[in-house]
Amino acid sequence: MGKSKTKSFQTETKQLLQLMIHSLYSNKEIFLRELISNASDALDKLRFKSISSSKLASLSDDLKIKVIVDEENKTLTISDNGIGMSEEEIIENIGTIARSGTAEFLGKLTGDKKKDSNLIGQFGVGFYSVFMIAEKVQVLSKSAQKKSSQPILWESSGEDKYKLTEVEKKSHGTDIIIYLSEENHDFAKKQRISFLINKYSQYINFPIYLSNIDEEEEVINETDALWLKPKRSIKEDEYNEFYKFISFDQDDPLLTIHNKVEGKQEYSNLLYIPKKPPFDLWNRESPRGIKLYIQRVFIMDDAVHFLPLYLRFIRGVIDSSDLPLNVSREILQDHPLVDSIKKALTKRVIDALKKLKDNDINAYKEFWKEYGLVLKEGPAEDFEHKEAIAELLLFATSNKETHEVDQTLDDYISRMPSDQKDIYYCVADTFEGALNSPHLESLKSKKYRGIITNR
Ligand code: ADP
Repeated sequence: MGKSKTKSFQTETKQLLQLMIHSLYSNKEIFLRELISNASDALDKLRFKSISSSKLASLSDDLKIKVIVDEENKTLTISDNGIGMSEEEIIENIGTIARSGTAEFLGKLTGDKKKDSNLIGQFGVGFYSVFMIAEKVQVLSKSAQKKSSQPILWESSGEDKYKLTEVEKKSHGTDIIIYLSEENHDFAKKQRISFLINKYSQYINFPIYLSNIDEEEEVINETDALWLKPKRSIKEDEYNEFYKFISFDQDDPLLTIHNKVEGKQEYSNLLYIPKKPPFDLWNRESPRGIKLYIQRVFIMDDAVHFLPLYLRFIRGVIDSSDLPLNVSREILQDHPLVDSIKKALTKRVIDALKKLKDNDINAYKEFWKEYGLVLKEGPAEDFEHKEAIAELLLFATSNKETHEVDQTLDDYISRMPSDQKDIYYCVADTFEGALNSPHLESLKSKKYRGIITNR
């Protein structure tokens, strides 16, 4: 072993670690999902970088994740042959929390353990969740990009410090070696891990091999992309599981929209409307958008150019056969293909909502309660679909007696007395404020209704 040094975690990291260890333990098993998803990201990064670098291309042939359980020594190892990390990268990625939203995350915690652990997923404080089940963790990594950089071993017991040591490692990639704490020894059982990988990581796009330390390894996940399969071969359950996998939501989605488009342009979209909006729906800075794949290669998360802002609650995947593999966000911004996909996706979402409204108005009202305010941005933002969105809007009127809430514009028009020529509306800071507005007085005498709404 080479030189060693010990460093302190950043204050926020310590806070987060304490929280993981002491408060969020009700759903400990999600640590595995987090680590496997990091491994998968590392493989995605290597595959993506190898498109433009011939040096890396030879390293990205046999990308995979290995999970090894050692029941005797009570350890669990998760290895990938992905992009790997240099010493600086380990310090930056694992010793600190660069993200500006950490305070926001800490503030959102409710004390309800189930909700909070769901937040971990949404927020992505992933790696640290390993300390819910570990007394010690080692991260052994070698960068695929920086050939000359020394492989490095990061070790910590999740208290205030971590140790870095220069070591040997033959192949690029990262091994996470978990020394399970006493009450978590059952995570060294192969059957348990196999169950969890199937539950949380079934849709990882790379093979996951699982074995006991002294055993032959076997692949245990399915790597065919769900969105490329024919619609009729997919069960509702599979759609729902895939949704939970990409969104970290624990609920089934409200709507699933899956299309495979062929012809002039080829692409597939698998989009979902969650039952509940994300906690940061109103934060304009928060990441949004869908996952972009090109010919099955993962390109980026949060590809915002494929949907208008007023549909920012949509989650899902789009996989294009025609976009160039080396696209950047800048290129996406004014690419004509992107524009036409965006139009088509917008129309599909609007149509799906219209169908929901026509077929199951109560389910639609649930949707409206969560997303109505966002959808109202639509007609202002999207001239082309303005009429179609207007059909989706629901309103209350000033006719209190008959409780006319959640009605459509068509309902309103059908209730207009024959001499009423215009639509009246009143907006105020609160719903009651609008309802009691003096401007409505003159309508009442004519038996007209006003549409009332709060901002
Ligand atoms: P997130 O994955 O949401 O960014 P994490 O705390 O799980 O948050 O991981 C922090 C960072 O550490 C990742 O963004 C990545 O840069 C790096 N990292 C974690 N695991 C690996 C891995 N197996 N290979 C390479 N880098 C990794």
